[in-house]
Amino acid sequence: MVMQGKACRNCRKVIEEGSKCPNCKGESFTTFWRGFVVLLKPEHSEIAKKMAIELPGKYALRLSR
Ligand SMILES: [Zn+2]
Repeated sequence: MVMQGKACRNCRKVIEEGSKCPNCKGESFTTFWRGFVVLLKPEHSEIAKKMAIELPGKYALRLSR
């Protein structure tokens, strides 16, 4: 399976286009990531709190680089 998109190095949000992270406004991404979670209601999620996520969406679980 080919992973699509790139993950923000700072908050791990996965985006498919653009150069700025909509969650943390970071501009550093990696295409080397594995696994993901989709957070629909980050305000109710423990994972989201740990990862400092505020926006719903797709987040990588691990960044390999
Ligand atoms: Zn980010």
